[in-house]
Amino acid sequence: MSFVEVIARKRDGRTLDSEEIAAFVRGASSGTLPPEQLAAFLMAVCWRGMNAEETRCLTQEMLHSGEVWELGRLRPDAVDKHSTGGVGDTVSLVFAPLLAAVGTPVAMMAGRGLGHSQGTLDKLDAVPGFSTDRDREGMLELLEECGAAVVAQNEHIAPADRVLYALRDVTATVPSLPLIVGSIMSKKLALGASTLVLDVKWGSGAFRKTLPDAVELARALRRVARDMGMACEAVITDMNQPLGPALGTACEVRAALDVLEGGGSPALREVVLRLAAEAMRLRGANTAEARARLEGALANGAARAAWDALVVAHGGDPDSARLAHPRREVAVTAASAGWVEAVDGEALGWAAVDLGAGRRTRDDELAHGAGILVRARLGDRVEAGQPLATLLVGERDVDEGELIEQVTGAFRVGPEPVAPPDLVVGAIDEVDS
Ligand code: URA
Repeated sequence: MSFVEVIARKRDGRTLDSEEIAAFVRGASSGTLPPEQLAAFLMAVCWRGMNAEETRCLTQEMLHSGEVWELGRLRPDAVDKHSTGGVGDTVSLVFAPLLAAVGTPVAMMAGRGLGHSQGTLDKLDAVPGFSTDRDREGMLELLEECGAAVVAQNEHIAPADRVLYALRDVTATVPSLPLIVGSIMSKKLALGASTLVLDVKWGSGAFRKTLPDAVELARALRRVARDMGMACEAVITDMNQPLGPALGTACEVRAALDVLEGGGSPALREVVLRLAAEAMRLRGANTAEARARLEGALANGAARAAWDALVVAHGGDPDSARLAHPRREVAVTAASAGWVEAVDGEALGWAAVDLGAGRRTRDDELAHGAGILVRARLGDRVEAGQPLATLLVGERDVDEGELIEQVTGAFRVGPEPVAPPDLVVGAIDEVDS
C-alpha cells in the first residue's frame, strides 16, 4: 500500500480501513513515514474528520504503540479521572484522597502543564518530596498502601501520541476531534482502569469554547471508552471562569486542603463531589448514598487524613506549613463599581505563567510560591477599589505593573447583574435526554 494513496483517500473524504490507519500510526511511531506525509495526513483528517469506527481504530493503534498497563485486570476496583483542562482546576488533588477515604481506589496518570493551564504533576511537585515517578508495579504498590496513586505519564505510554502531538502543534491540527480523542483516550486506555470519569470543560478558559463543542467531544470520548470496554461517564462542567480560588501550584494545594478539611471553594467542592459520586455510581453505588458518604468524609476529617496518607506514600511531607509562600502579595482592584460580567480564565492562566506558576516551554523552572488568587466571581457585585484578584509574587522577578494590567483586563465589570452559567451542565446521559 502506498501511503500517498491513503492520504489521497482521506483528502477525498473516504473512510479508511484499520490497515490504513495502522500504517499511519506505526509509520509515525517508528519514524518510517516522513513528517511531510504525516503532516498531510493530519491535515486531511482535520478537514474530513473520521467516523466512530475510524476514531476507535486510531485510538487502538495509538494505545498499542507503547506499554499497556491493564490496571483493570489487576485492580478492577480502581477508578481513573480525566479533565480536558482549564484554570484553577484543582479537582484531581481533592478527588483522589476523597474517594480513597470512602474506599474507592483511584489511579491516575497525570501530566505537566503547558500553556495557560497548570498540570497536576506541577501542583504535586509543590509538596516537598512528592514523587510521581513510578512504573506499573510502583503504581500497584501505591494503591495497596494508600488507595490512591498519581503517577507521571512516561515516554513508554502511547509514544505515537508524542510524535503526533508535536506535529499537530506545528501544523494547526490540534483542534481536530478524532485526533483529540485518539490522543486522550490512547493514554487513558494504556493505563487501563476499568472505570473512567471524564470532566469535559466548556467556556472561555477551556479547550472547547462552546457548549455544543464540549458535548461533541464528551460524546466522542465516552463512545471510544465504552467501545473499548471501560465503564465511563462524561460530565460537562463550566470553565467560563477559573473553577477554584487559586491558579498556581502551592496555592492550589492549599485550596485543595481547604476543601478536604470541609470548607474551601463551594465551586471546587461541588465539581469534585459530582465527579466522585459519578465514579461511585459507575462502580455500582447509589448516587445519593455515594454523595452522602463523600460529604461525610469531607466533614469528619477522613478525606484530610487520606490526603496525608497519599502524600506520605508518594514520599512527600504532608506538613502544609512547608508549602512555598509568595514573597509579596499585590492586590488587583476594580476601577469602577458594577457586576462582574466576564472573567477571562485564559488571560489569568497566562498571567499565572508569567508569575512563574506555569511554563511557556517544557524546560522552564516553576516558582511554587507564585500564583493568582481570584477574589471575584461571575455575577458578583464589586465596588470601586474592591479586590478582583491577588497576585502572589514568588521566586521569579516579574514586571508587576504589566501583570496588574493583564489581570485587571481579565475582569469585565458592567452596569447590569449577570447570571453565571451552570457550574455542572450534567452527565452526557442527562444532556442527551
Ligand atoms: N489533551 C491531550 O492529551 N491531547 C489532546 O489532543 C488534547 C488534550
